[in-house]
Amino acid sequence: MSVTVRAAAKINLHLGVGRVRDDGFHPLDTVYQAIGLHDDLTLAPADGLSVVTRVADHIDPTAVPDGDDNVVVRAARLLARRAGRPASGAFEVHKDIPVAGGMAGGSADAAAALVAYDRLHGLRTSDDDLLAVAAELGSDIPFSLVGGTARGVGRGEIVTPVEDAGTWWWVAVPSTEGLSTPAVYRHFDALHPDAPETPASAEPLLAALASGEPVRLARALHNDLQEPAIDLRPELGDLIARGEAEGALRGLVSGSGPTVVFLCDSAAGARETALGLAGAGERVVLTATGPVAGAHVVTTV
Ligand code: ATP
Repeated sequence: MSVTVRAAAKINLHLGVGRVRDDGFHPLDTVYQAIGLHDDLTLAPADGLSVVTRVADHIDPTAVPDGDDNVVVRAARLLARRAGRPASGAFEVHKDIPVAGGMAGGSADAAAALVAYDRLHGLRTSDDDLLAVAAELGSDIPFSLVGGTARGVGRGEIVTPVEDAGTWWWVAVPSTEGLSTPAVYRHFDALHPDAPETPASAEPLLAALASGEPVRLARALHNDLQEPAIDLRPELGDLIARGEAEGALRGLVSGSGPTVVFLCDSAAGARETALGLAGAGERVVLTATGPVAGAHVVTTV
């Protein structure tokens, strides 16, 4: 038997960041949305534990580590240890989510690995336990399990689904070179040594989401990491301006960047923005709708 699990990229519609805590993490108030850009992960029985990654044309294959550095391997080991068994299985990941792009591609793979490992080995881990293991592995991983649109607090790992009245159209432009999430947070700290302990509230964004109106959502989008990301990569500011000139309602750095996402008013609006950006020389332009489901089994053979 082999199991294939699909996991989606995330964007942050609101990312409020507070002053760094003593444990090194930043308090967050964030609203995640899973969008229709996926990695597919297949797990088959094997004696040892291995992972191979196949990437889409727009992804540098050397950017994804193999072996113990791959979060898929760490996820399998953690779940196996909890079950008191040695970890085993051959993972194959088909990657479409930009790497180090602020879209939680690694977290999506980790969530997919947890679901696949649990299913293949018949562990029957409860949802609550799976979420706890996910939170231990990384702050964005619980959301990758839950999907849809959800608020994240704590360091982003405490996730609650929220009301979302829309099907939103997004255009995403990844960069050829990734941006390190810790480096962007460090730059946020340098720019804002007096950041409040309590991060900017997601409440206004939640009201816009519930309205289902793209223009209202566009106005409410908020990302405290956009300023440090643009400071480190000024061309991201130019890209946002270009996409908005091509008809997008609003451009925003996704999470810690460097992917920029554009909210559009409709399918036609997304097509126009994507064509405009491609015509202006952007090599990779992706279009997706959100929200979509969290990590889920698509095939069991
Ligand atoms: P986030 O939005 O959660 O901060 P990100 O989208 O910016 O994450 P990822 O694509 O998750 O970044 O990758 C961050 C780093 O994790 C990569 O530079 C890579 O070295 C490492 N990594 C480990 N496993 C994986 C994986 N399966 N896929 C992608 N990157 C991985």
